[in-house]
Amino acid sequence: MAPREKMKIHEYQAKELLLKYGVNSQKGICIDDKSKARAAAESLGGSLFVVKAQIHSGGRGKAGGVKLARTLAEVEKYAGEILGMCMITKQTGAEGRIVKKVLIDNGINIDKEYYLSITMDNGSASPVIIASGAGGTEIEDTAKTNPELIIQQVIPPQTGLKDYHAREVAKKIGIPAPLIKDFSAMLKNMYRLYIDKDCSLVEINPLVLTKEGSLLAIDAKINFDDNAIFRHEDIRALRDINEEDPKETEAASYDLNYVALDGEIGCMVNGAGLAMATMDIIKAKGGRPANFLDVGGSASAEKVAAAFKILLSDKKVKAIFVNIFGGIMKCDVIAEGIIKAASEINIPVPVVVRLDGTNVDKGKEILKNSGLAILAADTLSRAAELSVERSRA
Ligand code: GDP
Ligand code: MG
Repeated sequence: MAPREKMKIHEYQAKELLLKYGVNSQKGICIDDKSKARAAAESLGGSLFVVKAQIHSGGRGKAGGVKLARTLAEVEKYAGEILGMCMITKQTGAEGRIVKKVLIDNGINIDKEYYLSITMDNGSASPVIIASGAGGTEIEDTAKTNPELIIQQVIPPQTGLKDYHAREVAKKIGIPAPLIKDFSAMLKNMYRLYIDKDCSLVEINPLVLTKEGSLLAIDAKINFDDNAIFRHEDIRALRDINEEDPKETEAASYDLNYVALDGEIGCMVNGAGLAMATMDIIKAKGGRPANFLDVGGSASAEKVAAAFKILLSDKKVKAIFVNIFGGIMKCDVIAEGIIKAASEINIPVPVVVRLDGTNVDKGKEILKNSGLAILAADTLSRAAELSVERSRA
């Protein structure tokens, strides 16, 4: 299992990819300094601009990160306001994200907004097109209140996307008849991109019908399957470390599988299956895991210590639950890793340890003699209870 399921990119990068694949979108200019705003807008030309925060999150419009500007002075003003802003959206969490780049695009006169995406449907093990005639910033609410307005069209991987699939989607979401041909071409290009680059999501929201009568992607989000990234040097180059959770980046550098979650119990586990079971039992006992961390089958004490430090750098963590079943991984190595971590950093939260398997007695002995205040538990159930209790204390 990869540390992240998907690699994300910015809107401006997604639009460049769309354009490369023949999907009609704006050719904007991305800047990182207010002083470049005026020249960027001037070189785009026209009399309507849009200034857009570039962060790896949707919902920017509602958070004040998308502004229409009618003059060069306004472009400059909005760029200055948005750059450096801490943007809090539904997807960033409460801590928000500092905006480091803004995209200046030509503003569009919009007649209608559609939603159009391609992603993986795990149920049918096929790509699926998800589309709606009610696109735009309210799409998530629409999904809840009027799910019938959102349609799905599974694409059998054997045939790929055919014209009749595209026409079916176009009709269902109300694309005007004269534009169905353009729409089909656009969707087929999106699909080609989705397959070529091993995407996990290609989403255009909104796809707009302009007042001038053409279809245009004015916002785009593209995610990639991490497990296939090694095949795409060009895509990997689009990574923006600034936008990633530093804990996840640090974990990846130690080859640890770490995914941040919202709870209070930091988990250190070996094996993805045991990690899932650990998260389940924490939930069953009424607690919430703060992360998914798999140290893998053959971690060294150094790696275990690194994992420990990553867990502790998450300020939400109120207790740590170490749950190891030693197979190839030996319990004494885990114990040594914990001691190594404790000698290098202060561990301000309770640590519950449940060890079993290879060299379990040696591991327990090492921990016992370490003088560390470790709560040992013999069963998974008891260990989970203790972790939940202590995370609340
Ligand atoms: P998001 O909020 O992060 O999804 O950012 P979007 O780029 O999708 O912008 C949010 C909304 O702002 C869109 O749904 C549009 O209604 C509006 N918007 C964005 N760009 C333009 C534009 O060029 N012209 C007009 N009139 N509205 C725009
Ligand atoms: Mg959008």
